[in-house]
Amino acid sequence: LCMVDKFEMVLSPEELRSKLPEWPYFIIDLYHWDRHTQEEKGKICLQVSQSYGLLRDYFTGRELAVTWANDEFKSMFHGPLERITTYTGPTSEFLRENGIDEVVLLDPWAEKVLSEEDFSVKAFIIGGIVDTGGNKKKTTPKIGEELEGAGIKVRRRKIVLRGDVIGVPDRINRILGIILKMMVEGKSMDEAVYEFQ
Ligand code: SAM
Repeated sequence: LCMVDKFEMVLSPEELRSKLPEWPYFIIDLYHWDRHTQEEKGKICLQVSQSYGLLRDYFTGRELAVTWANDEFKSMFHGPLERITTYTGPTSEFLRENGIDEVVLLDPWAEKVLSEEDFSVKAFIIGGIVDTGGNKKKTTPKIGEELEGAGIKVRRRKIVLRGDVIGVPDRINRILGIILKMMVEGKSMDEAVYEFQ
């Protein structure tokens, strides 16, 4: 399903948007912010900026939400803070305020692979986690447990390359890019992963 190709020849981005179903939120969840070094925090900020840049290619950028966004994040983030959505509190509260009770959590430890059936959810969650120290193993499932504890239905889904998570880039912005290539351009998972390797 290639939603953009069908319309882009004749419609402006605003017109295109109005014709399509409501776009989901792409949430970068900073639940584990305090586990990072200052250098890693800088990397998270950079990857959030790059995620904004990617989303702007398809959407407005507002669909990018950063939750658990504290003052330190806001001061370290050099991207356009006013053009993305930031939420200081828990992801579950952000979801509830937006009437969302089910999400897809992108999780390399998940059993199931992300598929087209998952594209109807109103929010995708990516862990705002940078792994340089090797001390953050299995931190993504913790985000899922936190959400489930707050009553949110969580579909944990992994992205794979020829069936395996090995070979899939784990940077936040690349994970977002892969989802967008699949969802908006209708590419297969393998094709989308190759483009972001
Ligand atoms: N150390 C974390 C862990 O063990 O759970 C992984 C952090 S990874 C650098 C940052 C985020 O990218 C993850 O929280 C997850 O949302 C996403 N991610 C990375 N690789 C993924 C994959 N193969 N499938 C789905 N999501 C992935």
